[in-house]
Amino acid sequence: MLCPYCERDDDRVIDSRASDVGKSIRRRRECQKCNRRFTTFERVEKTSRLMVIKRDGTRVPFDPEKVLRGLQAACGKRPIPEEQKIELVRDVEEELMQIFEREVPSHEVGLRVAHQLKSIDPIVYIRYASEYFDFQDLEDFSRELSDLQDEPPVFPTQSDLFTKK
Ligand SMILES: [Zn+2]
Repeated sequence: MLCPYCERDDDRVIDSRASDVGKSIRRRRECQKCNRRFTTFERVEKTSRLMVIKRDGTRVPFDPEKVLRGLQAACGKRPIPEEQKIELVRDVEEELMQIFEREVPSHEVGLRVAHQLKSIDPIVYIRYASEYFDFQDLEDFSRELSDLQDEPPVFPTQSDLFTKK
């Protein structure tokens, strides 16, 4: 990125964050020559599609529709507005693009959807998680249930989404 002050192409990113609900990424940069700081806004490139690495190692393009269908199946008749589901899938996609850029293991997708569901609706969370994470037996399942009872659902903050990789 060319420095707007001295036009040298040598900078360091000091901070990155999503702006405008993830439509662009705001980066603070510092020129390594003149040490001045400047901000860039980079559009999230929707055409360079995120690839999902499946368990068998094959790669498929990330498909938000498919994630949404999985979510809808888990929601069943639970009273969760459709817009909230779409919003959730969008948030997850944007987060994945920022963290993984090009390729993301499939379990990371499920993990993030599940993480958000935990605070929206514990029943849907359990349904989704049991489908997605393939609980081996009833014991896994009841352990997960009792974990939920121990800690009441909390809304995830941006920082714990980023550290729970
Ligand atoms: Zn400079």
